[in-house]
Amino acid sequence: MLRRVLLIDDDRAQFLLTGALLRQCSRDAYELDWAGTYEAGLQQLRTGAYAVCLLDYQLGPRDGLQLIREAVREGCRTPIVFLTAETSARVDCEAMDAGALDYLVKGEITPRLLERSLRYAMKLADTLEALRQLATVDELTGLKNRREFDRLLEEEQERALRFNQPLALLMADVDHFKMINDSHGHPVGDIALREVARRLRAQARNVDRVARYGGEEFAVLLVQADRVAALGVAERIRAAFELDPIPIAEGISLRVTISIGVASMPDDARTSLDLLREADEALYAAKAAGRNRVMAATGAGRRGHAQRRSGPSQSPHRGAEVA
Ligand code: GH3
Ligand code: MG
Ligand code: MG
Repeated sequence: MLRRVLLIDDDRAQFLLTGALLRQCSRDAYELDWAGTYEAGLQQLRTGAYAVCLLDYQLGPRDGLQLIREAVREGCRTPIVFLTAETSARVDCEAMDAGALDYLVKGEITPRLLERSLRYAMKLADTLEALRQLATVDELTGLKNRREFDRLLEEEQERALRFNQPLALLMADVDHFKMINDSHGHPVGDIALREVARRLRAQARNVDRVARYGGEEFAVLLVQADRVAALGVAERIRAAFELDPIPIAEGISLRVTISIGVASMPDDARTSLDLLREADEALYAAKAAGRNRVMAATGAGRRGHAQRRSGPSQSPHRGAEVA
């Protein structure tokens, strides 16, 4: 398989040299592209088209270390092998700390060393990605797991504060799910959970974060959504479940309803912890009020009770202000 390698180096001679080294170590296994500046390098990395990247330390005003940090911050997953002319261990260590998977000292690079380093970096990146999946993804539904969701919630909450934007959280829980398990068996319960997850993801925008928060409890984080918008989304989701039974086998469908608690920042909460608690309390209130309904948080839990916003016997909520 032909692997695309990106070299980011301001020196064209290094491009020619690296190309020659790669051809010596394994003819036709690698295709080398070259970016001669910081900006061009970052842009090409962003395409995600490369199996591995060789990155020079010296790149003009901004160096390779900065580039690694910027790429990693943006979520770049391309394995990076750092190139340095210095024999100083400091730069090598900094590069590895910043996210490089290996480093090579210019002038000491042989074809075999280069090939070994590239393969090592790609292998390590694959392993890291597999571990990342295990650590962040819920196996049954493919949604983010609770730990990852908590991390993303922190991230989004900070962003919302910094840019003065609203952020809303829906906590959704399947009604009487235990009865599905009890009457149809655990495997059917699993099918239902997967379908609930699929529907929630389908209803959310790409920027929104959907997670399996617990057994049959799901969290949907709506970015840049205020209370009114969030209540609208929640009601749409609830109504869709009510109308559309979940197929569990040939010719057999289950009517599954969900209850949803809605809380938003800055209206109901100022911290992620409060946001979670508020949404959870609203969900609890929705259960207590009879299930298959959406309830809004009352704000900072100070007034103690969530308010009913909509339900099967009411017309869907269309965004009136909460009293
Ligand atoms: P409520 O309307 O109050 O939410 O009632 P409920 O029955 O949905 O809630 P309860 O918490 O009593 O039961 C949740 C059930 O979800 C119990 C548990 O066995 C089941 N469950 C949790 N995780 C899984 C899973 O991965 N697969 C299946 N099939 N069931 C699960
Ligand atoms: Mg439940
Ligand atoms: Mg539950």
